[in-house]
Amino acid sequence: MSQADCIFCKIVAGQIPSTKIFENEYVLAFLDVGPVSDGHVLVIPKSHCERLDQAGPEVMAEIAKVLPVLAGGVQKATEAHGYNLLCNNGAAAGQVVEHLHFHIIPRHSGDGLFSHWPAGQYPDGKAAAIAEKIKQNINL
Ligand code: 5GP
Ligand code: ZN
Repeated sequence: MSQADCIFCKIVAGQIPSTKIFENEYVLAFLDVGPVSDGHVLVIPKSHCERLDQAGPEVMAEIAKVLPVLAGGVQKATEAHGYNLLCNNGAAAGQVVEHLHFHIIPRHSGDGLFSHWPAGQYPDGKAAAIAEKIKQNINL
């Protein structure tokens, strides 16, 4: 999906309507049009990038400044007992809209929406091997 075809860039530009809950120079937060629960909010950087690992530190700093407050406000407003913060990256991970976004999904005890994922176990030596490989691919 190119930037010109990006639904969320069109929302930022006001070409597609949205129900906004917060906006500043860098960040926009609006209701998800297909809510998993009432008050499901999407938080996006206004500048286009597809995935978290493509977002620059300045963009992420702006997200970090507001995301905790937005999440707290969503929980309070919906009288939720908790919330999920989700960021799907890539089609394999369920990303449909290729503009970086964070879902804030209010959760109520026993809502039955979704719960823990099927946890696996590493056979001997595999955790160390994977950790080593990841370390070699981090340029910090
Ligand atoms: P993803 O699966 O990419 O993490 O989630 C994309 C989300 O964007 C979905 O939850 C979907 O309901 C939401 N969405 C897609 N198109 C629109 C739209 O035009 N407006 C709004 N407000 N949300 C949208
Ligand atoms: Zn975009």
